[in-house]
Amino acid sequence: MILHFFNVNYEKLKRSTRGCVMIAPLSLLLVLAVSSCAGFAYDRTTHEIVIGGETLHDFKGATHVHSKYSHDSTSEFDDILAGAIHGGLDFIFITDHNNGESKEWEGFYDDERLLVLSGIEYSTNWGHLLIYNGGDFVPDYRDVPTLIETVRAQSPEYLAIAAHPSSSKKPFDHPESELIDGMEIINLSTLFYDACIPEMILNALLLGGIPGNLLLQTLYDKPKKNLAMFDAIGEERAFIATGSTDAHGRFPLVDSYSKTLPTITTHVFARSLSPESIYEAMRRGRTYVALDASDDAKGFEFYGRSRGSKLLPGEEIDLAEDAELIARTPVIASIRLVESGRVVKKVDGRFLKFEAVDPGFYRVEVNLRGRPWIYSSGIRIN
Ligand SMILES: [Zn+2]
Ligand SMILES: [Zn+2]
Repeated sequence: MILHFFNVNYEKLKRSTRGCVMIAPLSLLLVLAVSSCAGFAYDRTTHEIVIGGETLHDFKGATHVHSKYSHDSTSEFDDILAGAIHGGLDFIFITDHNNGESKEWEGFYDDERLLVLSGIEYSTNWGHLLIYNGGDFVPDYRDVPTLIETVRAQSPEYLAIAAHPSSSKKPFDHPESELIDGMEIINLSTLFYDACIPEMILNALLLGGIPGNLLLQTLYDKPKKNLAMFDAIGEERAFIATGSTDAHGRFPLVDSYSKTLPTITTHVFARSLSPESIYEAMRRGRTYVALDASDDAKGFEFYGRSRGSKLLPGEEIDLAEDAELIARTPVIASIRLVESGRVVKKVDGRFLKFEAVDPGFYRVEVNLRGRPWIYSSGIRIN
């Protein structure tokens, strides 16, 4: 926001070498300016939505976390657990690189308020692929069609999500493939490591020095590439949005789980906090991605109504006279309804209603205090 005050285009600035070098002092100014800000207190608030007579709960989770079972992390489970509890998370997936050992930690913790699940991040020929509910580790994982065939045979209700698809170092080549169920819209680790060196140092300072990582949020703009990819695929078929920190806990002082896990979360609307319900909600695309460090996003809703029935993202509505799309936010924010990358309605407030007159793939973006906050999955109107 201070960069905006000085009329500096941060994204443009960091693309040039000189700009990259300029970022550190400019941003340190930012640190000094807001380091007196109070930290955000995380807790487990609840929010419910009734769909088709059924009550669904908004559960907030970390869908991509590494432990000592990854080659690039030495973190113990207790550290991850403490971070998830501190962050007020309802569920976490430990997704180690080409390794399913984290299955031993699956279960409920913190008086049954936290559910720990195990997934695997496979290093395939297309890029990193997150498999949830995929059964045992598959040793022959390089070729995606072969991997998926084996996973499907051992656990038909699996989910395959493209990790950090537009990362400059580890992109994912074919998110559009029918074998892929969804993609990460935001991945904090990628944002961190794709940054230029002064910016990385600054990020480290921010992660280590500012309670609640509020300032970290000011560094990142809208994930335009990922959203364009998501829109293009969502127009064709059901596609799931997730977002993650991809936390490794590599540098305890700056990258501890309690600092990183609360910053980017995937929320799901599920019947209950059970593995089956969480998997079902994710599979149905009942998700939204939140940069919860700005504020807890619980209370956000995006749904469609047509011919008396109510539908969540991940579903389709037939175009009818009374078809409408509705978004609500827990606090006043800037709500945008987006269709094919184009904003079709914008409201500054807590409620947006749009009478859908055209078929298309619709999703919602919310900004809070001028910064990205929420990205929903999409609803298709046929
Ligand atoms: Zn990865
Ligand atoms: Zn990862």
